Amino acid sequence: MENEQVQELLNKLIKETLKGPKEWTIPSSSEEGKYYTVKVDATGKWSCTYPQFIYRKKECKHIVACKKEY
Ligand SMILES: [Zn+2]
Repeated sequence: MENEQVQELLNKLIKETLKGPKEWTIPSSSEEGKYYTVKVDATGKWSCTYPQFIYRKKECKHIVACKKEY
């Protein structure tokens, strides 16, 4: 394998390993037309606009679901 090809492969692997900030919009299961936003920042901190998350500081079901996908 040529050096260039090896480098290309390495770059691809690094890209796939490093997970950057991401955002999801999740429809509410109880209120139609309502959406919650789940975010993960560059430092790996999760947040959600769902009241349960904001008041109880506990991971809500949206964060749990997004973590599986992330
Ligand atoms: Zn949530």
